[in-house]
Amino acid sequence: MEVALPVPLRQAFSYRFRGGAPEVGTRVSVLFRNRAMVGWVWGPGKQVPGLLDAKAVLESEPSVAGELMELARWIAEYYVAPPGVVLKTMVPVAATKGSKLPKPATRSVVKVEREIGTLDEMQRTFGRARRQREAYEQLQEAGGALPLAVVLEKGFSRPVVTGLVRRGVAAIERETVVRDPFRDTPVAAEPAHVPNAGQRRALRELAGALGRRGGSTFLLHGVTGSGKTLVYVEFLKRVLARGEGAVVLVPEIALTPQTVSRFRQAFGDAVAVLHSGLSAGERFDAWRQLRTNQKRIAIGARSAVFAPVQRLGAVVVDEEHEHSYKQSSGAPRYNARDVAVVRAARAGAVCVLGSATPALESWANAASGKYRLLSLPDRVGGGVLPEVRVADLRTKTDRAGRAAGVPPAAAAPAVSAPTAAAAPQDRVLSPMLADAMRRCLGRKEQALLLLNRRGYANVCRCQECGDVRLCVRCSVSLTFHRSRRVLACHHCGHSEPPPVRCDRCGGSALSYRGLGTEQVERILREYLPRARVARMDMDTTRGKWSHHEILGRLRDGAVDVLLGTQMIAKGLDFPRVTLVGVIDADVGLHLPDFRACERTFQLLAQVAGRAGRGRLPGEVVIQTRVPDHYVVRAALAHDYRGFVERELESRADPAYPPFLRMARLLVHSPIQEDALRNADALAAWLRTCVRDGVEVLGPAPAPIEKLQGRFRWHVLVRGAAAGVGRALHAAAGGFEARGPGVRVSLDRDPLNLM
Ligand code: ADP
Ligand code: ZN
Repeated sequence: MEVALPVPLRQAFSYRFRGGAPEVGTRVSVLFRNRAMVGWVWGPGKQVPGLLDAKAVLESEPSVAGELMELARWIAEYYVAPPGVVLKTMVPVAATKGSKLPKPATRSVVKVEREIGTLDEMQRTFGRARRQREAYEQLQEAGGALPLAVVLEKGFSRPVVTGLVRRGVAAIERETVVRDPFRDTPVAAEPAHVPNAGQRRALRELAGALGRRGGSTFLLHGVTGSGKTLVYVEFLKRVLARGEGAVVLVPEIALTPQTVSRFRQAFGDAVAVLHSGLSAGERFDAWRQLRTNQKRIAIGARSAVFAPVQRLGAVVVDEEHEHSYKQSSGAPRYNARDVAVVRAARAGAVCVLGSATPALESWANAASGKYRLLSLPDRVGGGVLPEVRVADLRTKTDRAGRAAGVPPAAAAPAVSAPTAAAAPQDRVLSPMLADAMRRCLGRKEQALLLLNRRGYANVCRCQECGDVRLCVRCSVSLTFHRSRRVLACHHCGHSEPPPVRCDRCGGSALSYRGLGTEQVERILREYLPRARVARMDMDTTRGKWSHHEILGRLRDGAVDVLLGTQMIAKGLDFPRVTLVGVIDADVGLHLPDFRACERTFQLLAQVAGRAGRGRLPGEVVIQTRVPDHYVVRAALAHDYRGFVERELESRADPAYPPFLRMARLLVHSPIQEDALRNADALAAWLRTCVRDGVEVLGPAPAPIEKLQGRFRWHVLVRGAAAGVGRALHAAAGGFEARGPGVRVSLDRDPLNLM
């Protein structure tokens, strides 16, 4: 039989199984290059003499079965990834580590063995053993059983417990515990809404597609606040009623607690929440419960698309445009949204992709009829989309002169104010936004402020020679973090103390620019001392539950202003948020990436959609230096379709997705010449083997030329899907990189071109 092993080789390996071949998908242990390794039976192998014997069969039934095994084959083929690596991505860690599956956790429980009804009998049984009698009474009060640990906690000693057992009135048993940290988190207690006309229309279409062979894919385009979640929930009720299960994907569990709790409210114990904070054991428990049908719905981020839901009836992908669905490192670099479409189609299930701002690829698929489009054009309950205004940052900068420099932390007292003429708040809050803030806070309502850049300032530049402080390992500028008093690299984690002098010219006038959330927070506290400000970005959410904690405070009204990066733009639904301010809409707009505009539009539209979701009307202020840019114009008008039309024009010639498909081959090496030489050879080699109008671009240095000490060059391939696939397989099969530590990574349908 062939065995797929988690090694970076795009093939499976043949072994002989004495005593009968196990089923495909069964975990086995084999010797590979003299090392014991765990892999999965992949398929029938070649019958050649001299095959190695497999060491052991590790399970009695396959851990990856039927439909999921077929999906693994598709992923290995499409993303050109090693089969064993694909399978390892698909099953929970606990199932791949070592050769044994983890045992479900158990605990000891003390149970009443013999009921004692009367006081008389009590007296006869226990006599003078007062503690034993008390312990027994506690067990009775608790309904007949208590975990041993609890009995001991109550102050009874072990001899007391063994005494009960010896008398034959109690017994100690082992019992399986299911670990589920979400068991204790509150579930939404929202009124059960009745779907409105638009939602009913969508539901009718979805329900009509259930049970059709070959499945169907829908794109649910609903403006922010149109009630997409209710559509998912009501649809899944019908799926469950048919005895089928479902997978629900959300961009990130920690950032979408409301969505998760709405599903838990509707489906209770039938839901398994696959959270990245789960321990291996907890993840394994959830996985087992799905396989045995104790849970019918799996909800989670990217990798939940592989959840072993039985009799799959539907897959829902919420916020389908989110880039976090794409695995952007290692292998396989799959996009969970696309895998969801494929999995559903193969299982004959219905796939629903939902978004207020669909990815252009999905929109094009709906336009071509590959997906069916469902629209929710209005907010629920007659709510209106918030009014959006633009504040031109250019006039501000002109008036204030040069942007203020902030002295380096090491040399400056802790609370020194920036030295330029403009008052600090003017650089952050235009009069328009400042005024809107005051009015919002005056009404005791809440505001969200978005700035998609963390830290204090993201550029440290010498004012004399203009030199910018770069990371020693990456070709990116270092970000100043004031509270930690360091310059830090956001790509590799390198950090160093802020310099006193410029390394190049020795000048001592260093300026810190490029506003980050940490600086905005400080300015807000000075400018609005009475407002309760919370900041949510990667620096303030390192703890496992910190997102929950911050969002909980916002919900409870303990926070007036929530400031954050794109984290705060996802799916939040708080009725008292009536103002959204975008501190700088231009962050990310000018990146050398053909999706920069799309990404910026999505972010602006999503964050704007957080305002005015309840009865109170909302307003949005977008600050920008390019008020006439089509991205800003479309965001002002809530005009997704208008944006798409304009954006498609700019992708037509030269052609970019969605007009064709792309793949990226990244060559990286610790030695610059090796990266260049191999990228050159790779591009030349690809050119000899592509056909069908497939084009090879490059090589060119990647926009981030150096990352973590490795030099990076890339080659892009573009053309029709089949041709791009063939080119990747040719590259994977025939090209060999030369030089120490040279690597080539393949990324099909890449979202990150940096
Ligand atoms: P979005 O489309 O942005 O994901 P949500 O699903 O979060 O919107 O719904 C927005 C709000 O509207 C939620 O608070 C939800 O409870 C409420 N809602 C959804 N459908 C209805 C309905 N038919 N009637 C009343 N309120 C509804
Ligand atoms: Zn770095």
